[in-house]
Amino acid sequence: MDTFEQRAEKAAADARLRGVLRRAAGVLRGLRERAFADFGDIEAAKARLRKARLRSVLRLPEMLTRLEERVTAAGGVVHYAGDAHQARQIVVGLARDRDVRLVVKGKSMISEEIGLNGAFAEAGIESVETDLGEYIIQLAGEGPSHIISPALHKSKDEVAALFLEKLGKTAETAPELTQIAREALREKFLAADMGVTGANMAVADTGSVVLLENEGNIRFSTTCPRVHVAVMSIEKVVETLDDAGDVLALLPRSATGQRMPVYLSVFTGPRRDGEADGAGEFHLVLLDNGRSRILADPLMREMLLCVRCGACLNVCPVYKTIGGHAYGWVYPGPMGSVLTPLLMPSRETFALAHACTGCGACREACPAGIDHPGLLLELRRRGVEDMGWCGPGERLLAGAAAATLARPLLYRGIMGGLRALDPQLRALSRFPGLRAFARTRQVPRLKPPFWSRARAMDRERLRRGGDR
Ligand code: SF4
Repeated sequence: MDTFEQRAEKAAADARLRGVLRRAAGVLRGLRERAFADFGDIEAAKARLRKARLRSVLRLPEMLTRLEERVTAAGGVVHYAGDAHQARQIVVGLARDRDVRLVVKGKSMISEEIGLNGAFAEAGIESVETDLGEYIIQLAGEGPSHIISPALHKSKDEVAALFLEKLGKTAETAPELTQIAREALREKFLAADMGVTGANMAVADTGSVVLLENEGNIRFSTTCPRVHVAVMSIEKVVETLDDAGDVLALLPRSATGQRMPVYLSVFTGPRRDGEADGAGEFHLVLLDNGRSRILADPLMREMLLCVRCGACLNVCPVYKTIGGHAYGWVYPGPMGSVLTPLLMPSRETFALAHACTGCGACREACPAGIDHPGLLLELRRRGVEDMGWCGPGERLLAGAAAATLARPLLYRGIMGGLRALDPQLRALSRFPGLRAFARTRQVPRLKPPFWSRARAMDRERLRRGGDR
């Protein structure tokens, strides 16, 4: 299997992909900037969102207990899943027990995280993605490359070719392509026995699940079939509807540049007597899958504040160069580089912590104020300490560099010597193995120390006749 470095190198060399990514991320970033242009005090709103999220994350067991009570009181059923395997078993078990043959799914990163479509397929149950982007990548047999726009890596022409190949339909414009998907999905909505969605939030005080979308497919998936199953990671609970409002003030703006999404649904339990539509059964599956471990880590629990807006991806120079698939799992970009190694710690996933230039654009864009660069630095440190990221040779070199940098005179001496050798270094480019290294590197010229710069400035002032 390819390593992260190999995948990233391959993706970075794909000029077509880079072009698509930059254009798409640029559009999303532009929409976000426009949505915030007349917003008022963004920092105050960010502080409110962070406070609301922190309040529930730091009291997670209490919040989840209250949520379970309220969902149960409203007629729903709450299930706890410790890991992805348990979550798959619960959801597929619910479908099997009810003799479900067809499931329609709303866009949900959690169902990607637990590999739900694969589990349905193994159980012989058809599951159809109904979000347009998810539908496209399901037809293509690919995973999402962005948490908000799963098919962001695909151009319109590629989608047209895909629809022709898989559905036998021809279209040229985006509205025509959308119409094809709409017609194909409409009959699935009407025939489905179960709708599976994620959840943007659940409110502990009311037992409600909050879902945002723009296409109406989630409304269909939750109202047409007789059973609605929502799968949510445990940290997405908020305490009150007011707290949900604080999240909603920034989430759609940060995600798609909208003040509000086209559809905002708040479900509390299944359909009640006298109500015209809605599923007759409602199940909420709460997934841990490593979140309790993150919660117990005082430095890393900050990542649980993430509201999955995707804004950090759209501003990240690494994401815009390599795209989402290179990250190797469902969560790409800065949020994925932090979350993936925390959820699935391994030497391979800790490599993601190096996918950062330290520019800080993600921290600035994040509505929850998550300090991704700081968390990634800490993960790099843990990679060295716990994952064997650093061999004895590297340790020796790093120790020598640290000792040299702590002694300015020694550093200057070494850099001066290397600079004198610079022409010889360039001559190394004649050797095939060293060509790329020697061609692109130069020993930098150091600035003179500040005291000689101050002296030079004094001299210049005197030459101009002193201060007037
Ligand atoms: S880390 Fe922040 S910017 Fe990135 S997806 Fe989460 S909330 Fe959005």
